[in-house]
Amino acid sequence: MKIYEKAPAKINLLLDVLRKREDGFHEVEMIMTMVDLADRLEMYELPRDQIVLSSHAGFIPLDEKNLAFQAARLIKDRCGVERGVYIHLDKQIPVAAGLAGGSSDAAATLRGLNRLWGLGLSVRELEALGAELGSDVPFCIRGGTAIATGRGEKLESIESPPQCWVVLAKPPINVSTADVYGKLRAAEIERHPSIPGMVDAIRRQSFQDVCAGLGNVLESVTLPKYSEVRQIKEVMTKLGADGVLMSGSGPTVFGLVSKESKVSRIYNGLRGFCKEVYVVRLLT
Ligand code: ATP
Repeated sequence: MKIYEKAPAKINLLLDVLRKREDGFHEVEMIMTMVDLADRLEMYELPRDQIVLSSHAGFIPLDEKNLAFQAARLIKDRCGVERGVYIHLDKQIPVAAGLAGGSSDAAATLRGLNRLWGLGLSVRELEALGAELGSDVPFCIRGGTAIATGRGEKLESIESPPQCWVVLAKPPINVSTADVYGKLRAAEIERHPSIPGMVDAIRRQSFQDVCAGLGNVLESVTLPKYSEVRQIKEVMTKLGADGVLMSGSGPTVFGLVSKESKVSRIYNGLRGFCKEVYVVRLLT
């Protein structure tokens, strides 16, 4: 039997950092949602007790460093499964982009193997396993739109924002998430974006207020350092995107756009100087 799972990318409509904790993690408040840019995973059982991961994407590890591999090993160990699995990862989400591609692959692996091996784990149990792999993995298991607190693993689902187009642009630079958080001085953040404001905008389905309420405090580290990210934000805004924000720790920038007629102008304008541009929809 073959199992297929989609692993969609996430964007942060809001990312706030409250403080650095004693355990080294940051206490965050985020509103996350998913877009229909997704990796695809194919899984089937192997006759021998072994995890084999393959992918045509040349730039990701295929051993225990890969989050999908780690997810397979974790669920196998915890549930005492003595069977092997072959996982093929069709990578569509850009890597190290701030779109949680690796976390979503881990989540899809947990969901898929739960089905393949008939383990009967609940979504809550899968989320708890996911939290051991990374802060974004529980959200990637649950999907939809959620407020995430703690180090990102405590979730409260909320309704989806109003449907719109999402233009994603990733400049050709590598930004390390650990580095960005390391450089952030949480106590010196001047303006915190408002979670209640964004929740209210979503509840009222006000696209305009969702765009006005977008905020990501990590921009205060990334924008001064990387002119490419700044430039993409400026161009997207100039070309008429309704709301523009860096996703996660970057470097991908997303633009929310309500009118289809504007989308191709924004896409073409960005493609002039940025190779990786995607036009997708929210996964509502
Ligand atoms: P986040 O938004 O959660 O910080 P990201 O989108 O910035 O994630 P990922 O694409 O998840 O970053 O990749 C970050 C690093 O993790 C890469 O350097 C990559 O080598 C490694 N990695 C491990 N497993 C995967 C995977 N399945 N897909 C992509 N990268 C992976």
